[in-house]
Amino acid sequence: MNAPARALHDTPRSDWTREEIAALFALPFPELMFRAATVHRAHFDPTQVQTSTLISIKTGGCPEDCSYCTQSVSNPTGLKATKLMQVEEVLAEARAARDAGASRFCMGAAWRNPKDKDLDAVCDMVEGVKALGMETCVTLGMLTAPQAARLKQAGLDYYNHNIDTAPEYYRHVITTRTYQDRLDTLEAVREAGINVCCGGIVGMGESAEDRVGLIHALATLPIHPESVPINALVGSNTPATETSAKLSDLDFVRTIAVARITMPRSMVRLSAGREDMSDETQALCFMAGANSIFYGPKLLTTPNPLADEDKALFARLGLSAMPYTPGA
Ligand code: SF4
Repeated sequence: MNAPARALHDTPRSDWTREEIAALFALPFPELMFRAATVHRAHFDPTQVQTSTLISIKTGGCPEDCSYCTQSVSNPTGLKATKLMQVEEVLAEARAARDAGASRFCMGAAWRNPKDKDLDAVCDMVEGVKALGMETCVTLGMLTAPQAARLKQAGLDYYNHNIDTAPEYYRHVITTRTYQDRLDTLEAVREAGINVCCGGIVGMGESAEDRVGLIHALATLPIHPESVPINALVGSNTPATETSAKLSDLDFVRTIAVARITMPRSMVRLSAGREDMSDETQALCFMAGANSIFYGPKLLTTPNPLADEDKALFARLGLSAMPYTPGA
């Protein structure tokens, strides 16, 4: 049985080889799209797309040196650093996102890792957002096992921590923490019983082989992340954006398709970069198995299409927002 056919089986595989993943990337485009769409249909309604809204609850001033990020102190982008938002301000944003149609509310803070006193406020935010009937996700940097347990106790549904790129390209992107640090946080999150949101960024000057390595690293985690955000590099004035040529839209779509085939039960999120994509490219991404988007005008500090534009796009494509039933 060949690799894509095996992917149709119910149990997701964590034993993908790089050769198998490279072979998927190398398929003729129509064949790759067909296989990805077939896997998508085996596990999801392909007309439904999950919608998440992401806000920055603490912006800028981050001591990490991620080369793609406008919030790092290493990348002087002129972004103004802010303090942690008040709980009530965050809940007002969550209410507005819910009323605009988002089912998940994601809160990001530009920290290397949260301090315990900050975690108290974040736990209050999580509890408040849950009480609004939304799923919750936070991204706060590296976590210890006790911190993950506290977030779980507050009712956190998802923790986002991206591996960003292939292990062998990682040193070109970040030097202030290691790949293993990332994996350790993911393990702490998993151990606490929180769903994992973990993906990467493409178009950072990595090779095609590095994109194989990124998908391989994600698809061989012992349990696949429940959410897999695939981001296209955007923004300006960061080392990554100044040295990288834009990845072609078709190569981006291929990355989505291979993520869908190798992680058949995960939500594959079309994340940063939609603002620069045509409706047609986004439609190809949905056909390739993307079934989640960020919804709302900003992703932390990155522009994103307006909710009304997304509603119009969904209407044109015959897509609908995936229903979320609290407690289901
Ligand atoms: S990506 Fe996150 S950890 Fe890296 S510099 Fe930006 S805010 Fe800090």
